[in-house]
Amino acid sequence: MTTTRQRVCILGATGSVGTNTLDVIARHPDRFEVFALTAHSRVDALFAQCLQWRPLYAVLPNAAQANELGRRLRAQGVPTEVLSGAQALCELAAHPDVDAVMAAIVGATGLAPCLAAARAGKNLLLANKEALVVGGKLFMDAVHAGGAMLLPIDSEHSAIFQCLPEDRSAWPQRIDHILLTSSGGPFRRRDPGTLATVTPDEACAHPNFAMGRKISVDSATMMNKALEVIEARWLFDLAPEQIRVLIHPQQIVHSMVVCRDNSVLAQLGTPDMRVPIAFGLSFPERIESGASKLDFGTLGGLSFEPPDHARYPGLALAWEALRAPEGSATVLNAANEEAVAAFLPEPFASTRFTVSTPTRLPP
Ligand code: NAD
Ligand code: MG
Repeated sequence: MTTTRQRVCILGATGSVGTNTLDVIARHPDRFEVFALTAHSRVDALFAQCLQWRPLYAVLPNAAQANELGRRLRAQGVPTEVLSGAQALCELAAHPDVDAVMAAIVGATGLAPCLAAARAGKNLLLANKEALVVGGKLFMDAVHAGGAMLLPIDSEHSAIFQCLPEDRSAWPQRIDHILLTSSGGPFRRRDPGTLATVTPDEACAHPNFAMGRKISVDSATMMNKALEVIEARWLFDLAPEQIRVLIHPQQIVHSMVVCRDNSVLAQLGTPDMRVPIAFGLSFPERIESGASKLDFGTLGGLSFEPPDHARYPGLALAWEALRAPEGSATVLNAANEEAVAAFLPEPFASTRFTVSTPTRLPP
């Protein structure tokens, strides 16, 4: 049983993963303490979170907005110090008083604070898959050099992680291949001839999850699964041919490990991000997550089918990028971020993070 509270820094606190993380933390005030909260543009949401959680630090990209948030918080008697700029994210992610960093920023822009947390040897709870996709070997080298504990939050990778023994040196001998499951997104049955005219709201109507808009679009195109294939390559040190994808519309089986003896291990549950988040926060223990129990009596059928590569042409690019020269996955991710940004009417995560004067934190 944990005796001291873990101090958690949440990068991207106002997003879908960030708010789910706070939901889990709220269930365990004896275990966790919110050290820092960061956001991009939802200043009022960050203000409300600071009122509730009273973190030591908060971060916004823009200096004027940060000053204004600090003023509003002081007026409420909240002593949170509000910092600004990308450098502050890195300094907080590596702060000596932080135990765990939830990386829940969307897009490659989250790479720098992830690297900072990895180099500082933190428990790094990785939702921000793009950071690992673009960082690749550099990211994993930082994890190993810093002695960080990399805990997958993506539900598929958490499922694989949960199916494997704690001793990582046993993984290569154990795994024949892995099966990443995917809902197939909202366009799984849509006439391919009409796909050119879909709207952002149609693309974001994910069948099972309410998520941020960028990952929702990626789920509709299955570029999300392509990024997850690359993410799995690094998390579990697999060859490209050891990673396969299956469409599983119910999203009850969150992914599977096919062992050397052809025994298949799966992790099941209701589709709820609080399960992988709670597992990442409490690893190697298990804590209450808030997710509802799976009711096998009313579940109905579970179905699986191979993905239709003609419908989802982006998916195969994952294996191509993994077999291509180093850096190809970074290019693939950049092309996807630009394409999604062009498709969505609002910016999903501006990489134009205003860098103001670097903040130096007290040690
Ligand atoms: P979201 O859009 O809901 O939230 C993104 C967060 O990042 C927000 O707090 C935003 O303020 C912050 N942010 C955006 N741009 C930023 C920038 N330039 N600098 C600093 N902060 C910035 O996204 P989400 O759905 O919570 O997804 C977050 C990450 O987790 C993504 O990488 C996504 O692929 C991954 N993920 C999400 C889910 C899910 O269920 N939502 C599941 C698996 C993985
Ligand atoms: Mg996923």
